[in-house]
Amino acid sequence: MAAPLGGITGAAGPVLADDPALRGRPTTPEAVGDFSIAADAVIIASGGIGGNHELVRSAWPTRLGAAPESLLTGVPANVDGSMFPVAQAAGAHIHAPDRMWHYAEGIRNWNPIWPGHGVRILPGPSSLWLDAAGDRLPAPNFPGFDTLGTLGHLRSGGHEHSWFLLNERIISKEFALSGSEQNPDLTGRSVRRLAGRLGSGPPGPVADFLRHGEDFLAAATVPELVDKMARLEPAHALDAAAIGEVIAARDAQLANGFGKDAQLAAIRDARGYRGDRLMRTAAPHRLTDPAAGPLIAVRLRTLTRKTLGGLHTDLDARVLDASGRPISGLFAAGEAAGFGGGGMHGHRSLEGTFLGGCLFSGRVAGRAAARG
Ligand SMILES: Cc1cc2nc3c(=O)[nH]c(=O)nc-3n(C[C@H](O)[C@H](O)[C@H](O)COP(=O)(O)OP(=O)(O)OC[C@H]3O[C@@H](n4cnc5c(N)ncnc54)[C@H](O)[C@@H]3O)c2cc1C
Repeated sequence: MAAPLGGITGAAGPVLADDPALRGRPTTPEAVGDFSIAADAVIIASGGIGGNHELVRSAWPTRLGAAPESLLTGVPANVDGSMFPVAQAAGAHIHAPDRMWHYAEGIRNWNPIWPGHGVRILPGPSSLWLDAAGDRLPAPNFPGFDTLGTLGHLRSGGHEHSWFLLNERIISKEFALSGSEQNPDLTGRSVRRLAGRLGSGPPGPVADFLRHGEDFLAAATVPELVDKMARLEPAHALDAAAIGEVIAARDAQLANGFGKDAQLAAIRDARGYRGDRLMRTAAPHRLTDPAAGPLIAVRLRTLTRKTLGGLHTDLDARVLDASGRPISGLFAAGEAAGFGGGGMHGHRSLEGTFLGGCLFSGRVAGRAAARG
């Protein structure tokens, strides 16, 4: 960015070669020329840092335990924070870089679009969630309940991976995958395909993961399943008898209607809502019920996603310097600004509302830039 004394006066940089790569795929870094544009205002809307593991690790907050050694990449490679040092060179201050939102339910995409591509499972509540040592996660860390709380719990215990234990009945009803390419019924606006989610068997993209995904294992019995889990994670082989006991203790709570298992109570509660009962939450049943299909284990790893800290702005989206003064002509919006003003939905944010903050902060920035 051009930043002589007095503020930002435009932007300059290399022009990259044309590249026919599909959306989300990496493109060529080959420069074929330079550009320089004079402007009264520059708005940085370059996204967050989730594609840059080094940056994620270096800013990792201690409240989420130690930074993971291995991460799956949940955002396209261009979400690399590359505009942060450019803005900093122009005097911008980065606010709360340790505010971030990542998922514990990451699986490696068998059909990747970008390097290290991971996908987040959007789970219903029934899978039994075990840490890498085979211990069941404590309430309220159930699938889909408290993203940052569960991530913090696992990372504080030093677990690089965890496991969902379930069966075919649960995966068929409760697994959805995050990402436009994983939801062709929604992105293709196909009511017929959406209605297919009510049918038996897992939705197509989930079935593909069951077939091809390196993190998915299926077996008829607990010992067979645990044996396969040990082959996938040999350094953390679990004891089949101990896992059998964890499953049996959970299943025993279904023997009568007075069970005290908090997860089973939450499942029953979820089924009180007709939408969840129809499309999202399997009726409580024993995990080892042979009629519920083979047992399934899914290995989960940390998946990077959202950036809640970023370029420090005021309520007019003007980028501030370290002393809190606006840098003339420089604005920021979206994830680059921690969703505007350094975190529009607060420290822990609110699942599913990130895009709204990005759009809203973009509107604020555009209006402020137009006012001059
Ligand atoms: C798989 C997935 C699922 C999601 N699901 C949800 C959801 O359900 N609900 C929700 O609210 N949010 C969701 N999000 C988050 C939401 O999509 C993002 O927070 C939002 O898109 C960020 O918008 P943005 O405009 O700030 O950044 P981006 O959408 O990342 O756009 C940044 C743009 O800047 C470009 N860029 C970056 N660096 C440079 C550079 N140096 N020079 C030129 N251009 C550059 C990039 O190519 C990109 O086009 C999801 C994100 C992903 C990846």
